Amino acid sequence: MLSRHVNSQKVLEQAREHSARHRHGKPTVHEMLDREAPGTISRHPASKDYGTEPIPKYAIPSHGVPAAEAYELVNNELSLDGNPLLNLASFVHTSMDSYADKLMMENKAKNLIDQDEYPATQLLHTRLISMLAKLWHADDVKENATGTATTGSSEAIQLAGLAMKKAWQARRKAQGKSIHEPGPNIIMGANAQVALEKAARYFDIEARYVPVDASTRYCMDPKRAIEFVDENTIGVFVILGSTYTGAYESVQEMSDLLDEYERKTGISVPIHVDGASGAMFAPFATPSLIWDFRIPRVVSINTSLHKWGKAYVGVGAVLWRSKEHLPKELVFELTYLGSVEYSFSLNFSRPAAPVIAAYWNLLHLGHDGYRRISLHDAKNARLFARAVERSKYYKVVSEIHHLKSDQDQSLVDKAKQATGLSDDIDSYIPGLPVVAFMFSDEFRNEYPRIKQRNVQLQMRQKSWIIPNYSLPANAEGEEVLRVVFRETFHEDMVERLFHDLVEVTENMMEEHKADVAHPGSGSGHHPGPNDRAGSKSGSIAEKLASSHGEGTRPVRPCLAFALLCSTVR
Ligand SMILES: *Cc1c(COP(=O)(O)O)cnc(C)c1O
Repeated sequence: MLSRHVNSQKVLEQAREHSARHRHGKPTVHEMLDREAPGTISRHPASKDYGTEPIPKYAIPSHGVPAAEAYELVNNELSLDGNPLLNLASFVHTSMDSYADKLMMENKAKNLIDQDEYPATQLLHTRLISMLAKLWHADDVKENATGTATTGSSEAIQLAGLAMKKAWQARRKAQGKSIHEPGPNIIMGANAQVALEKAARYFDIEARYVPVDASTRYCMDPKRAIEFVDENTIGVFVILGSTYTGAYESVQEMSDLLDEYERKTGISVPIHVDGASGAMFAPFATPSLIWDFRIPRVVSINTSLHKWGKAYVGVGAVLWRSKEHLPKELVFELTYLGSVEYSFSLNFSRPAAPVIAAYWNLLHLGHDGYRRISLHDAKNARLFARAVERSKYYKVVSEIHHLKSDQDQSLVDKAKQATGLSDDIDSYIPGLPVVAFMFSDEFRNEYPRIKQRNVQLQMRQKSWIIPNYSLPANAEGEEVLRVVFRETFHEDMVERLFHDLVEVTENMMEEHKADVAHPGSGSGHHPGPNDRAGSKSGSIAEKLASSHGEGTRPVRPCLAFALLCSTVR
């Protein structure tokens, strides 16, 4: 009889050989401690110079491990991490030029908060913010923009949310109205990234989620959103680039509806644009799209400079269109570091190197560099989207490969299309270079037992990291696979990816047919909708044997990978 639940830690412990000392007489306290700790790292056999005590995994070793050996241990453990290049799940960029690496190394010890000690770093920080202010057209509208680098969009969004809350409180107090009953609320689509939910929850702001579904392109529809607005609404979060599908929400339409609301009620509700990805993509890929400070109702914008800003992880930014929108209570004067310094951030100490590298990137790439990369990413995404759609196994939920509707197109665009597939990004619906796709209806009908999440697991076997996750609330039950196209991904890799996707899908189809043809094989159990991939341990061996006969390649992936990969980033 095979056991169904194996406690791997326990089994390993029982299987382990213990030194002779332990079998005779009691082990010493030290030996107990070392063995007791469920995790000790075994030393390299060549480490005899350094001693043979096991190194505890979860406690600080009583005697330090020599540098080289410690390096070896850490480096070996890390080799199990995925390859960042093949991580198609993440929006976070993973590659910079060697000069950026050099700058990061040279400045790794600098603290961004310490403006007195590192005034030159502070200067670059200021320039970086100015560059973004210009990119987002704060200058065109003659505003005196202000802002700060952050650790990423999450911190940026929290600061922006707090600023809107404080501004709302000030307005309410000035009118002699309560700020407690019923308290502030903020509006966002149900597709909101977790950073937006966090900002609301951490700062006691009621989050009002606007339902999304296929008819709203799985993102916030301003016409629905306006129904949620009232006098306690501190603002609306509009997302430029939904993490689920890459679709842009319409800042202009939201603003128009809020203008109308203000005309009717006298209440002015501001917009914060979450441009984590889009604020560094749209200005280069589709500069004619209006979403930024050109719209007067947009009071603040955030971005993750480690997404399409193309810096390494650890840097973002938030800007306000003018100082008026950054309440004074949020700005702290620091006098103890030498001179008077101003700080508005959630962190105190933080590395300056990512900010320096992000500045270097803007300088190095320039407008044309960012545009070239944006067009490259978008073109690869369109190629993949079309190929996936033409396979007929899948339907594509993201829209960047769809031509704009007739009325949104110029005559020139139309002429270009008439000559075949246009590579002019302006012919297509704007959005992030992201492809979200799911099994087509025909596929589902024909292969009802194939679970889409197994595509993720089997692609992982080929080293690709492609998440499969549920679409946001209201669309629950529907799952999509998603690929994010970044600069490091070349056209030949798009081909490779597509080949692998087709192969994995067709293998699953073969297995499905074999399963249906021999219903008695295996454990006799047919996976129901709630079964998890590869969880039928009893039948694995038989399935392996039978599927070998069919010439298909059985894949029994580890569930842990599924858990790792399924979070939406
Ligand atoms: C990634 C992302 C965030 C969070 O950004 P971090 O830089 O990871 O903190 C917020 N909103 C959207 C839309 C995102 O894509």
